[in-house]
This record gives sequence, C-alpha cells and structure tokens, in this order.
Amino acid sequence: MTKPDRWVIGNWKMNGSLASNADLLEAVRGKPESSVKVAVCAPFPYLNQVQRALGGSDVQSGAQDVCEHGSGAYTGQVSGAMLREFGATVVLVGHSERRQFNGETSELVAAKAAAALATGLTPVICVGETLTQRVAGLAEATVAAQLAPCAVLLATSSARVVVAYEPVWAIGTGKTASPAEAQAMHAFIRTQLTAIEPSAASVSVLYGGSVKASNAKELFSQPDIDGGLIGGASLVAADFLAIISAAG
Ligand code: PEP
Repeated sequence: MTKPDRWVIGNWKMNGSLASNADLLEAVRGKPESSVKVAVCAPFPYLNQVQRALGGSDVQSGAQDVCEHGSGAYTGQVSGAMLREFGATVVLVGHSERRQFNGETSELVAAKAAAALATGLTPVICVGETLTQRVAGLAEATVAAQLAPCAVLLATSSARVVVAYEPVWAIGTGKTASPAEAQAMHAFIRTQLTAIEPSAASVSVLYGGSVKASNAKELFSQPDIDGGLIGGASLVAADFLAIISAAG
C-alpha cells in the first residue's frame, strides 16, 4: 500500500493584496526542496499572480472553492476548468466557513469534489465538528456524516483525493486540538475511508486548526496526520516555511 503523501497547504482565506502577496510568494517559492507537497490557496482574483509567481517552482497553487457545475448561468461562481486555466491544481471544498456562511451541505461538498476531480483538480475535502457537537459526544458521528456523501468518489478516485480534518472550534481561535485528540480523529477518519475503499488507506489526511510553527512538529508526528491545512500562519512567510519544514 502506498504511503499517504505529506502536504502543507496554505489557506489565505479573504486576505492579501497584490503587494503583500508578491513578498509572500517570493518567500514561499524559495522554500528548501523536500518531499512535502506544498500549495497555497489564494482568493480567485489572485490566481493569475500566484501562477506567475510560482511558475517553474514545485509549490502548487490552489483555490478555496469551486462550482459543482461545469459552465452556465451560475452568476458569481467559478468552474474547475477556469481554475485549471489559471494554474490551480488543488481546491478546498467544504471549508467550515463555507458550510457556516454559505450554507454548504455535505451533499453539495461532494458534488464540488466530483467537479474538481472531473477537471483534474485535487479536492481537499474539509470536515470537522463544532464545539457543541464535540461536547455532546457527536464529533465522530458528525465527521462520518460529512464524509458519507463522498463515498462514491472515494471508491472510484481515492488516489486523487485529500481530506482535511479541521475541528471548527480550533479554526482561527488559537485553540488547537491536542496531538492525541487530533490523532484519535484522524485514525477514525482513516477507518471510515478504508471501510469505503481499502485503497483509501493512502489518502492524505491533514490536520487544520490553529497550526503554528510551535505546535506543527508534534501534530505532524502523529501516525495518522499527514500534514496540515494552515490558515493564519500561512500569511506569514517565516511561519509557513517553518511549518513546511516541520512536516518533512
Ligand atoms: C483554515 O482556515 O483552514 C485554518 C485552519 O485556519 P487557522 O490555521 O487560522 O486556524
């Protein structure tokens, strides 16, 4: 069985400017060579800048959302083919902020992941429970229910899918799941994935939620954590570079 790839993916969220991106991209582009796959997921208007700045480097570019449809009357949406034209190779789907603020359901997230795969993008399927769900003992059931609509695409395309476990209570809050808490959920996710498709044992399962240079190494050394999805710290070049080296 192939071992899962190790990834560090930056999620810039709705941050950046042409000037600040230029400095950040120059620094990230200069990262030391390693086997860790690195990507930055920028807001749509900056994809062209990211493509030009990272061209010829091994840092991949990505987006933070994709439309579930291929083309047509979907005002404000962006298709997978458009993302590919701007050099994107990965795309986040089902980030908790989109589930929360845009009402995205797990069925819609699965449709977006399928659209990403159909256009040659790697979908990073984000799952995670709220604090209320965790306190009620529903963390695993929540994550299992979020993954369930993706079963068909996991069964057919697991080699091209990445999963990110991001407990909602840890995103942007400074509260990180302890390495043991994160590992327990990652092991559960691995069990869920392999129950759907045995070869899904090689799906990379990333942890996200207030990962910093200071806690990355311990999180990433857990057996079922294959790297991280990084929000705030991906906007600070020195921090992002330190997190990449912690994953190596
Ligand atoms: C995220 O937005 O995916 C994230 C993990 O954010 P942060 O690292 O800031 O918690």
